[in-house]
Amino acid sequence: MSKTVGIDLGTTNSAVGTMVDGTPRLIPNAIGKYLTPSVIGIDESGEVLVGNAAKEYQTLQPTRCVSGFKRRMGTDWKCKIGNHTFSAIELSSLVLGSLKADAESHLNTEIHKAVITVPAYFNNDQRQATIEAGKIAGFQVERIINEPTAAALAYGVHETDTEKTIAVFDLGGGTFDISIVDFFEGAIEVRSSAGEAILGGEDFTRALAMAVLKEHSIIYEHAEVKSPKMVARLIRQCENAKVALSKSNSFDIYIPDSNGDLAPEAKKFTVDRSILNEACKPILSRIAIPIRRAMGDAKLNHQDLDQVILVGGATRMPSVVDIASTLLGHPPSGSINPDEVVALGAVVQAGLIDQDQALDEVVVVDVAPFSLGVEIAKEIGDTQVSGYYLPIINRNTVIPTSRSHTVGTMVPNQQQLQISVFQGESRMVKDNLLLGELLVDGIPLGPAGQQVEIRFTYDNNGILEVETTVTETNKQAKLVITKSGSNLSDSAIKKALASMAKLKIHPREQAENKFLMKRAERLFQELPLGLRRDLEIYLDSFESAMESRDAQQISGTRQQLSLFLSAHDCSLNDDNID
Ligand code: AMP
Repeated sequence: MSKTVGIDLGTTNSAVGTMVDGTPRLIPNAIGKYLTPSVIGIDESGEVLVGNAAKEYQTLQPTRCVSGFKRRMGTDWKCKIGNHTFSAIELSSLVLGSLKADAESHLNTEIHKAVITVPAYFNNDQRQATIEAGKIAGFQVERIINEPTAAALAYGVHETDTEKTIAVFDLGGGTFDISIVDFFEGAIEVRSSAGEAILGGEDFTRALAMAVLKEHSIIYEHAEVKSPKMVARLIRQCENAKVALSKSNSFDIYIPDSNGDLAPEAKKFTVDRSILNEACKPILSRIAIPIRRAMGDAKLNHQDLDQVILVGGATRMPSVVDIASTLLGHPPSGSINPDEVVALGAVVQAGLIDQDQALDEVVVVDVAPFSLGVEIAKEIGDTQVSGYYLPIINRNTVIPTSRSHTVGTMVPNQQQLQISVFQGESRMVKDNLLLGELLVDGIPLGPAGQQVEIRFTYDNNGILEVETTVTETNKQAKLVITKSGSNLSDSAIKKALASMAKLKIHPREQAENKFLMKRAERLFQELPLGLRRDLEIYLDSFESAMESRDAQQISGTRQQLSLFLSAHDCSLNDDNID
C-alpha cells in the first residue's frame, strides 16, 4: 500500500513528513532542512525556484518572486512573475510538488496521497483551493485537517489515556487560530475553534518595517510601489530583527537606499523590544476577540483549562507568549517545536488513514469554526424585508454534520427561489461572507408558502455541500460554489496541469548548489567591500567548478563557499534551533 504523507502548507514555511516505526517524522528537503519557505521565484533563465533558493532570490529580485500566496487562496487573485501568470492555487501546487519530490526522494518510492493542513478559520473556498493545489501537484488529497487540530493530534497521540482540556494557540506567518480541545479515553475532541484569517508573523514584520520607515519620514505603501527592492531588503532585515528580538534585546537595521543597495554609510537604526512591541500593539490587540469567542463557545473559564500549547513560529515572540498567558490564564507549556507540530500532526492523521498499527486507538472529532446559513426575508410590519441571516449549521457544531431547514415561497405562483449561502455570525447577510448562490426553479404554481427544504452537509474536510428539494415535486438541486473560480472541474485541472508542465522547474538534485549561489549573491550585496572581494573569489571558483561538472571540484568549492557564508551571514536561519 502506498504511504500517505502529512503536509503543513504554511504561509511562511511548509513541511512534509511520514510515520516511521509508529512515530511521526519530518522529511528533509533537498538542502537538508525540515522547513521549506513557501516562496516561488522565476530566475533570469526562466527557471522556477521553489523554497530556500527562492527566498534568497527574493531579496535580490523581489519582483521575480512571490510569497504569502496562502492568504490569497480561494480568491481570483493572479500574479505575474517572469513570463508566467499564476493563481494562488498554482503557486501552492509548486510548493506541494517540491515537498512531494522531497518525500519521494527520501522514501525512495512514489507518493500519491496526502493529508494537508489548513487554518481552522479557512472558509469553504480556501479549503477547496487547497484540495485543488494538491491535485495539480499530483496528490490525491485524503483529508484536509485544521492546523490546531493537527497540533492537538501531535500532542494527544502520546497521551491517549490522560483526561484534560487544552487550548491550542496557533499563530503562524499568516493566520491566527485558537482551539479548545478535550483529550479523553483515546479521543481528541475539539470543543470550539475561532480565529482570524489575516493575522500573523508577516504582519508583525511589516508593522516593524512601517515603523522604521516612518522614523525616516517614508510612507511604507509609497516605498512599496516606488522602491520594491528597498522594501524587500528592509523586510528581510526586519524579519531578522523580529526573530533576534525573541532572544536578545536589540538588533541593528541598516536602511537601504531607494535602489535597495546598502551603501557603506547606510543609516543605522537600532530596534529594541519596546519598538517592536509598540509597532505590533494594534495587531496583538486583535488576538483577544477570537480567544473570548472560543472560550465562551466551549463554556469554559481559565481555571477549566489544564494546559496551553503554542503552535506556529510567531509564538516565539515574548509579547505573544505574554498575551497568550494573560488571555488564557496559564503560562504556555509544550514540548514539541512550534514550527513543526502542525506537520507532525498531519503525519499522525496520515498514519490514521493508513491504519498505522501504533495509532489505532485515536479518534479525532472536529468542529465547524463558523456558522453557515442562508439569506431570508422577514415580515417587518406589513412589508417583507430581505437581507437577514438564518444560520443552518451553528458555529462549533461537530463535523461531519448534515442539517436542514425548510423555507416557503413569499408570493403566490412564485416558481423560483434564490438561495444565497453565507458564512459568518452577523445578523444581517451584508456583514457575512457570501459563499455561493443557487437558483431553485420548477416550484409548482400555487399560493405563497410552497415549501423548499435546504440541506447543508459539512464533511470531515470542512467542505460544504448545499442541496435543495422542492417538497411537492421532490425536485433536487445542488450548489456548486463558483464565486472565486474555485471548484475547478476536471478539465480545468487538466488545463492547469498542462500549463504548469510547461514550466522549467529547477532540478532537485541541483537545489543545494542553486540555494548556495542565491544566498551568496544576496550576501554579496550586503557585505562590506573588503569581504565582498573574498566572497567573489569563493563564488568564482564555485561557478567554474560547476561549469567543469567535476564532482570533486564542485564539492570542494561548495564547502569553502558554504563555510564563508556561515561565518559572515548574520541573517538568521528559518529553522529555529532552541
Ligand atoms: P509558521 O507559519 O508557523 O512557519 O510561522 C512563521 C512566522 O513565524 C514568520 O512570520 C516568522 O517570522 C515567525 N517566526 C519564526 N521564528 C520566530 C522567532 N524566533 N521569533 C519571532 N517570530 C518568529
